[in-house]
Amino acid sequence: MGHRVTLIPGDGIGPEVTSAARRVAEATGVDLDWEVVDAGERAIKQTGSPLPEAVFESIRKNRIALKGPITTPIGGGFRSVNVSLRQELDLYASVRPARAIAGEGTRFPETDLIVVREATEGLYSGVEHWVDRDHTAAETVNIITRKASDRICRFAFELARREHRGHVTGVHKANIMKTTGALFQTAFREMAPKYPEILADERLIDNMCMQLAKKPSDYEVIVTTNLFGDILSDLAAGLAGGLGIAPGALYGEGMAVFEPVHGSAPKYAGSDKADPTAEILCVELLLRHLGETEAADRVFRAVWETIAEKKFVTYDLALPGYTLTPVPPSSCSAMAAEIARKVPIVDLDTPLPKGRSEMVGAESALDG
Ligand code: NAD
Repeated sequence: MGHRVTLIPGDGIGPEVTSAARRVAEATGVDLDWEVVDAGERAIKQTGSPLPEAVFESIRKNRIALKGPITTPIGGGFRSVNVSLRQELDLYASVRPARAIAGEGTRFPETDLIVVREATEGLYSGVEHWVDRDHTAAETVNIITRKASDRICRFAFELARREHRGHVTGVHKANIMKTTGALFQTAFREMAPKYPEILADERLIDNMCMQLAKKPSDYEVIVTTNLFGDILSDLAAGLAGGLGIAPGALYGEGMAVFEPVHGSAPKYAGSDKADPTAEILCVELLLRHLGETEAADRVFRAVWETIAEKKFVTYDLALPGYTLTPVPPSSCSAMAAEIARKVPIVDLDTPLPKGRSEMVGAESALDG
């Protein structure tokens, strides 16, 4: 029987990269039945709402979705569709693997870490207001609960165990934020001894940024609160090769939404220039979630080999400064076509270079 999957094309480059990802998913031969629903700018035009009820209905029913990026107006306008979706569906664990691929686009080819970000509370709580009538002072409430801190820390340790990663780093700012920071720190400290085989250590967020910029290969799994995780996952993506290759997943109880780390990159919208890799690697994670392990391995391999060959790579992986031997940049659709062509023919028996492994899959990280 096929898998019914909600598909949200999104804004900006979203329709291009999701159509590229769909093409690669179809090349695996896995029977995926896409239910397309709109959120963001297209939904506003059709329904007047950026996040119509039909989106929630579809995800609640199918329990799984592939999503493109969605534009959020800056400094005003409607509330972030992304934040609302995560809160409403309680998609609390944002998992963002930062894996260097074939050494391209990075000065740190050994980078292979996963940022696990609490995605429902913290400074993205949406509780904010002006303090005075003249709008000269404002407050945003940083909501941290023991319950959410416990479950994200447990998720991170379970993920590390499942992915055979022996090191989890808890990141906070408990020296300054003595209530919210300390609450998260305590949750991390009390969870760690339940996983004695895993090395657990802590970093303050500022120090974490510096340590990552110096030697990202020292880290395997990082777990942190919402805003810190948002920032660290972009940093980690940059270290691994850029936003164009960084996939992500959001997990709730029995529900998963796969979306790249990057946003809608409006300046590239409609130009067929965006790198489809991040959205295609979301398909890899989605297939793992569905238990379609061989298909997922094929997608990862096909991406790896296409980037390693450098005949069909988009501008972000082709330009001088990003690669030792610059090549003419490919279009988004041509890169996707090449990856799709390779999917059925890649050789899964040849090991990848040391340290670069397909993920095991995080779908049931809380089952244990
Ligand atoms: P962005 O990630 O869209 O773009 C930043 C830069 O990264 C781009 O200018 C481009 O140079 C590069 N880039 C991003 N994706 C790329 C790709 N696939 N291929 C090649 N280069 C790529 O971030 P932004 O400009 O800060 O945000 C634009 C919009 O996206 C905003 O409205 C923001 O709120 C939204 N956003 C949405 C999500 C989401 O839907 N999950 C995430 C982040 C940002």
